[in-house]
Amino acid sequence: MAKRNVDSEVLYTEVAKLLTDLKQCVVLTGAGISAESGIPTFRSLGGLWEKYDPAVYASIEVFRKDPSKYWILRGDFIRNYDSYQPNNAHLALAGLEQMGIVRCVITQNIDGLHKKADSKHVIEVHGSLREIYCLACGKEYRVPHIPGGTPPYCSCGGVLKPNTVLFGEQLPRDALTKAQEESAWCKIMLLVGTSAVVQPAASLLFLAKQNGAQIIEINIEKVFPDADYFIMKKAGIALPMIVEEIKKIPIL
Ligand SMILES: [Zn+2]
Repeated sequence: MAKRNVDSEVLYTEVAKLLTDLKQCVVLTGAGISAESGIPTFRSLGGLWEKYDPAVYASIEVFRKDPSKYWILRGDFIRNYDSYQPNNAHLALAGLEQMGIVRCVITQNIDGLHKKADSKHVIEVHGSLREIYCLACGKEYRVPHIPGGTPPYCSCGGVLKPNTVLFGEQLPRDALTKAQEESAWCKIMLLVGTSAVVQPAASLLFLAKQNGAQIIEINIEKVFPDADYFIMKKAGIALPMIVEEIKKIPIL
């Protein structure tokens, strides 16, 4: 099949038809999808990583020595968690799941916005900032209901840490295994707002491609040269357009 990489009505129609015909779509999302919800992309120009070296502020080694560094970087976001809302892209993906087209969303994001948008099958390979737990007794807290302080402490006196993967930590094994199974099995992999160059995204994309999945990429810049379809648009615009096209397709 010829590769399409234009942003045209024909392309949306083709992608809608492909999704409707094959279904079994697994979505891989990254920071780009959340940028439209006002979540800073840490590697973007002017991002927080320029002010705070992640190797210092977001590594498990440093967290164990001085957790206040991490909480200086992330505390505001965690405490204001309720003010960040899913955007039209998150909502469209949840809609595609309800239509029986999207099977699951695998995300590198830790903002929990896919679950907020009511996607049911979400694999958070880097964990989630929604869940906070005590390193001493394991007690779980749910944002924004966490004690004050930098860092905050559990009632037992232990330090609180979000259930996310810091630099130097292993990815959660169960989530990774599930993500690999879904990627190997899907018929379509939809890349949204991710460059898919870091792990595990890169290997999941490779698994999908190797097993014959069609690759659809929605990004503001093309990053995956082997994509079968490329839509160069913000996800918050492109995904609702695809949903509208799908609604036009008669159900047989
Ligand atoms: Zn505790």
